[in-house]
Amino acid sequence: MEAKQQFNTHLAFALANNELVQQRTTNAQQHLHATNGIIAERYARIDVAKSRAEALKFKSIENLERLLIDFEYAFTRRNGKVIWCETLADVEIEFKKINQKNKLKWNIHSQDSLIKELSVNEYILNNELNAKTTNAQLDIYTAAFITADAGAVIIANQPPLVNKNTNVILATIDCLIPKLTDVDLFLPLLSTYKNKQLLQNEISIVFGNEEKSNSETLLFIIDNGRTKILEQIEQRKALYCINCDACNYVCPVSNTVGEEGFVTATTGPIAMIKNQFQYDLHQYKHLSYASTMCGKCSDVCPVNIDIHQQLINNRKHIVEKNLTSKSDNIALFFWKSNMLKRSKIEKGGATLKNFMLKQFFKKQWGDEREFPVVHTKSFNQLWREKNKK
Ligand code: SF4
Repeated sequence: MEAKQQFNTHLAFALANNELVQQRTTNAQQHLHATNGIIAERYARIDVAKSRAEALKFKSIENLERLLIDFEYAFTRRNGKVIWCETLADVEIEFKKINQKNKLKWNIHSQDSLIKELSVNEYILNNELNAKTTNAQLDIYTAAFITADAGAVIIANQPPLVNKNTNVILATIDCLIPKLTDVDLFLPLLSTYKNKQLLQNEISIVFGNEEKSNSETLLFIIDNGRTKILEQIEQRKALYCINCDACNYVCPVSNTVGEEGFVTATTGPIAMIKNQFQYDLHQYKHLSYASTMCGKCSDVCPVNIDIHQQLINNRKHIVEKNLTSKSDNIALFFWKSNMLKRSKIEKGGATLKNFMLKQFFKKQWGDEREFPVVHTKSFNQLWREKNKK
């Protein structure tokens, strides 16, 4: 099913099931309430923490190429191995190579959306037979952050690495932060907004691999479309995201449509910005319009991503690429020419206007909502009457 069709199907289903939307909204409100409690307990000035995180992410993303090389140097110096993967297919090829070398039993320790993004679970299901014939283990973790200066990998809410095993850690290029000391800022922000906790339960900091040990630490650094976002000067700020999901909780669209409506592993307002660049502009451009523009996502974001402004930038990009529909173009042409002249606005009665608006916008508006009606009196008439009183 097309991504847009899937989104619309889930939207229609949700609009017909008020209880479902109510339940999602209540869950989200409870999460936000708990988050606000932690913020009040931990931060005297959350705005200062957010600005600092934004500035550090700016530094990381603007210098990504150099800092990733610094990271690799520091990590490999301590016997860790870095595997660069541009695409999902590259990840799968590497998985197959590891599996061919040793028949291993795979254990996934992370629930992170990256596991879904890379279809790791599906790959492992396909290799279930191997798991039955071996005791050798391969453990998969995901990194919350990697630090350029010390070559450190920060793993949160997952058990510690096992010494005798092969350990695979999955990280994306945008989880890089400049220094190990910056973890002091980012980890509490992530635990506050994502986990509603003062600090995550289990935190490991991995510096490569222990010398002369039987274990092996392989770090996959994955692009999977993120450099396409980096190419967009205006939207590259989306790469500051630390995957806390806070924007998802405050978003009325996410709370209505639900995660499934987004198709991809990343959901909610940040997916609305990223997907059209990371995956496919034609498939995902509808998400740039699937917003009420209330701006709650931008207010809550712990790294100050101006999400609603980025959606406007996305729309500008779609218009510049001539990807708007013909009917939209015609409707907006007439809308603009009428709106620019008061004499044109005043022409025709409310009945004609209601008819014309329905003709042009009914499809976009959908059947689930009541179409707004034009007042029987014009703005000028109403204004005059009001001022007479
Ligand atoms: S965009 Fe901001 S609020 Fe949304 S998941 Fe990313 S960091 Fe969290």
